[in-house]
Amino acid sequence: MNVLVINAGSSSLKYQLLNPDTQEVLAKGLCERIGIDGKFTYKAPGKDTIDAADVAMPTHSEAIQTVLNALVDSKNGVIASMKEIDAVGHRVVHGGESFASSVRIDDKVMAAIEACIPLAPLHNPANITGIKACETVMGKDVPQVAVFDTAFHQTMPSKAFTYALPYEYYENDKVRRYGFHGTSHKYVAGRAAAMLGKPAESLKLISCHLGNGSSITAIDGGKSVDTSMGFTPLAGLPMGTRSGDLDAGILEYLMNKYNMNITEMVSVLNKKSGVLGVSGVSSDFRDLESAAKEGNDRAQLAIDAFEYGVKKLIGCYAAAMGGVDAIIFTAGVGENSAAMRLRMTSGLEFMGVKVDAEKNDCRGKEIDVSAEGATVRTLVIPTNEELMIAMDTAAIVNG
Ligand code: AMP
Repeated sequence: MNVLVINAGSSSLKYQLLNPDTQEVLAKGLCERIGIDGKFTYKAPGKDTIDAADVAMPTHSEAIQTVLNALVDSKNGVIASMKEIDAVGHRVVHGGESFASSVRIDDKVMAAIEACIPLAPLHNPANITGIKACETVMGKDVPQVAVFDTAFHQTMPSKAFTYALPYEYYENDKVRRYGFHGTSHKYVAGRAAAMLGKPAESLKLISCHLGNGSSITAIDGGKSVDTSMGFTPLAGLPMGTRSGDLDAGILEYLMNKYNMNITEMVSVLNKKSGVLGVSGVSSDFRDLESAAKEGNDRAQLAIDAFEYGVKKLIGCYAAAMGGVDAIIFTAGVGENSAAMRLRMTSGLEFMGVKVDAEKNDCRGKEIDVSAEGATVRTLVIPTNEELMIAMDTAAIVNG
């Protein structure tokens, strides 16, 4: 079975054609600058790579058509015809409280995704555009499935998702913690269970998705019971450019002092804060590590604050679950930075976490880096959201 996985942004479209059974990636790439001057990339093992500028893509429909043309191309294609695409899986950012799992897309589902637009005004419209473009180009017979970033967290109990605001803001306005990165947390939790050789239902896991955007999730018995992102992906840890949690009183103080409106203030929180804001150097942890090594104190402070935030949440979630069997590190920083993993877990020996520095000296591979005697395992698991989307899509299409 072949699944085309689509992650549509407002002017971009990431795609991957893969077989969820064999986990083979047949081809992948990116359409960028849709509606502007169209850029197209395509990579398939053993075939010529395409990296083309000025490709006519006035809308997402032409972008999808460009992808399909490349996939069936007689020289560099990987399938003989579109008939070999059995289903399309779409990443959809926000499913609100309507979706606790992935779902086959029909008119009712589309309406529910549209109803979630106020909760994700930048992302859901782009995801909807991607779904409609696939239907236009591929026809109604190819099943399409929506896989939501929020769905995995719908198992959170109300004590974890409720904000201490007047309750009518939840009842009338849907203001609550939703959480994001659900596809990634679900994927690594599944892999962790496989690595530990135990059923997911028996495990307490803390999944640290640490990348440009970062979130940590407490997973008890295979279910998300708390997570650090909130109503929006601005909450929780300090991130590349996002502030993470802060005292809401700061907003009034700064807005008054610098005569900023709320849009300007939120833009500062989303784009100029996080480790970029603290360091003044970069949002990229590699740059920060280099700058810190050269003696830049603010780069070091940004790293320290980030690592401290991670450590604090690990403690929080261990307490929330009444224990933890394994801590998972994934995404750009979690998968690749051995030094940061070591620092984020140091001092946690009291709760049974002990990392073997030698085993930990690796990047981008699935490995248990726990030292002998550790009672809480520390796992590095590269995330694979596309594969998770393809697996969910296949499961739904196959009933
Ligand atoms: P992601 O959002 O998961 O793609 O992660 C991207 C981020 O991972 C980049 O901004 C970097 O900060 C970080 N990253 C990637 N490789 C490394 C590395 N070797 N060491 C530290 N950070 C890294």
